[in-house]
Amino acid sequence: MPALVDGREIAFQAQGFRSRMTGAEALCLTHRNESKSGEPPIVRVHSGCVTGDIFHSLRCDCREQLQCALRVIVAAAYGVLIYLPAHEGRGIGLFEKLRAYGLQEKGLDTVDANLALGAPVDARDYTLAAEILGYLGLTRLRLLSNNPAKANALREKQITILECMPIVVESNHHNERYMQTKRDRLSHGI
Ligand SMILES: [Zn+2]
Repeated sequence: MPALVDGREIAFQAQGFRSRMTGAEALCLTHRNESKSGEPPIVRVHSGCVTGDIFHSLRCDCREQLQCALRVIVAAAYGVLIYLPAHEGRGIGLFEKLRAYGLQEKGLDTVDANLALGAPVDARDYTLAAEILGYLGLTRLRLLSNNPAKANALREKQITILECMPIVVESNHHNERYMQTKRDRLSHGI
């Protein structure tokens, strides 16, 4: 599948996956640079975010992280992006996420907003991601993520994370508090 990354046309291999257990779907984009070799693969497991990824919402940093990840993947010898639409709103879904946004406008942070809705702070399950990595033979990899919980969840599913590569993105005045909350309350590295 040809796609634009930083205005450049890049050829990715696109594969679709669906969980037999939950019906959750995933898109997997693979890119290889044949001229480079010997490096462990770089993988991004990206939680889908309709508002950020598609509509450039400034409330979160998902789109910047996605773009940054694609840039790194394209430059690597072997890079893979697994995109998980079912991880919308840290797994609570688009509808609940928008309800949580409403509460955030009233002053709650992203963690307390979920709790006020009776929703989990993080409902994401990494079984499908780990199964895809296993299917692709990617059991030793470098993970592009600021989220230690994601790395640990994959480790629990027998994926060896050789290195967690941080994704550094600039905050804006809309998502500053959200990013601070992720650092303070969800142990994100950056
Ligand atoms: Zn987002």
